Amino acid sequence: MSRRQHVFAAEGLEPEPRELTEKDREIMTSWIAIQGQCLWCLYTDSLWTFATFIQKKKGRTVSLNMCQCPECNSKIRRNTLIKIHNMTMKEFAAKFWDRVFTGEYEKVAWDPFTSRLKRYFDYNQRQIFWDEWRSHKELSLGGWESEDDDDEAYEDYMAYTEEEGPQ
Ligand SMILES: [Zn+2]
Repeated sequence: MSRRQHVFAAEGLEPEPRELTEKDREIMTSWIAIQGQCLWCLYTDSLWTFATFIQKKKGRTVSLNMCQCPECNSKIRRNTLIKIHNMTMKEFAAKFWDRVFTGEYEKVAWDPFTSRLKRYFDYNQRQIFWDEWRSHKELSLGGWESEDDDDEAYEDYMAYTEEEGPQ
């Protein structure tokens, strides 16, 4: 931390990030005002916290499209982060379970996901989430069970849903 940044910190302000180009600072200002949400762990914060950087000849610069969740490290497109945050629970649940049931189970960070699901959403909202799971399960169960590799994940998944699932 430079002396100048110490002054910011002492006043309780965020120190200015170093090595940002002028354009990056503009992006930072606009991204700080926009909320994003991670599909896989429900981490929710300003878009800027998801920013990634590309190495260029003259140093690094913010990637406009590809972001990364600071908590579960999943790579997520900027537009997806914004869309997820703005979705209704019904829309979110449909997207989430589509992705899980088509082979992206491994991406889900279940512990933070379930704790945030409880913290951010009331009982009725959570029921919408699990109702969507039920309808996906009815459609997809056969396909999932027929693949050996998925058996273990499926068992974990069932154990998990018995604990946290619909009452
Ligand atoms: Zn995440």
